[in-house]
Amino acid sequence: FFRALRMVKDEAGIRAEFQDLPLSALPEGDTLVQVQYSSLNYKDGLAVSGKPGVLRGYPMTPGIDLVGKVISCESGQWQPGDAVILTGWGIGERTDGGYAGLARVRSEWLVPLPPPSTPQWAMSVGTAGFTAMLAVLALEDHCVTPDRGEVLVTGAAGGVGSVAVALLAAAGFTVTASTGRPAEADYLRSLGAANVIGREDLPALKRPLEKERWGGVIDSVGGATLAGAIASTRTHGAVAACGLAGGSDLPTSVFPFILRGVMLIGIDSVTCPMHRRQAAWERLARDLPAEQLQAMTQIHPLEDVPALAQQILAGQVRGRVVIEVGG
Ligand code: NAP
Repeated sequence: FFRALRMVKDEAGIRAEFQDLPLSALPEGDTLVQVQYSSLNYKDGLAVSGKPGVLRGYPMTPGIDLVGKVISCESGQWQPGDAVILTGWGIGERTDGGYAGLARVRSEWLVPLPPPSTPQWAMSVGTAGFTAMLAVLALEDHCVTPDRGEVLVTGAAGGVGSVAVALLAAAGFTVTASTGRPAEADYLRSLGAANVIGREDLPALKRPLEKERWGGVIDSVGGATLAGAIASTRTHGAVAACGLAGGSDLPTSVFPFILRGVMLIGIDSVTCPMHRRQAAWERLARDLPAEQLQAMTQIHPLEDVPALAQQILAGQVRGRVVIEVGG
């Protein structure tokens, strides 16, 4: 038997339950993993709060990422004892995820834990940090370099935002962090932000084109925030759209694209191809050492997940939350 946080649905509605499950409850897959840690991401907040749109069936174990040790692997790709990371590919959405002591998954979804990193480091990064890395790589691919001017990170005190600030600062960028929580200004400066501005200080989007300011943008908020960021991005700058914490609409016009050549890049961590995944994890291991991540990470037991899910949806979680599953 293994312990799991399960989302169940019946006449009374959708709710989270802690259950002890037999091995036969695991989904299909060629690799059995002993889960050590998972993490809390915005999407997990939606799933565990019973919001529609994330879980594709019930009962389901949420948790969109995990790190652990391989117990057995039928494909032969992994050996027992190998330390592996899994983010995305539908775990915690279409198939059981990381909020359980055991996971059965597909061997081709896994990436090796890059040495000398620890399992706890991997989930301090987690899906949110991995997504921030993909966004930085995307900006670099689109020729956004530190000499092109300051870069903006929105939703900066959240998971994606905090890691984006640290990674951009490590890469030599002048980072402006936008947050709705002025009390987190010192925290954001400690991660490497040169400037901290309030949500209300972002361009108000009164015109299709605002004063040119950002060489690049990493946005996890969406809505009017993303539209304002696009309208104030400098000629031939690039904007990486990662999330929707503030809304899923995009009230923009074509002018930034056709008059300034601004590039809008979509980031999808779930289906990110394997060569990109490995490159991103190796770069994270290089640029985001454990000591630096510590300042933005809290660790909680699995039992705390239902309460934490409410907090992340309310925008009250700072940085990253690691969930201790198996130790
Ligand atoms: P998070 O820790 O909750 O961070 C989101 C941040 O956005 C909050 O901390 C807050 O930052 C800001 N925010 C929250 N509500 C807001 C509102 N109503 N208006 C404006 N700003 C608001 O969540 P996360 O795990 O980092 O995820 C962030 C977003 O990225 C989510 O939408 C998530 O679904 C998405 N995401 C996408 C991918 C992908 O593959 N594309 C992967 C991971 C996450 P401040 O307090 O600093 O303002």
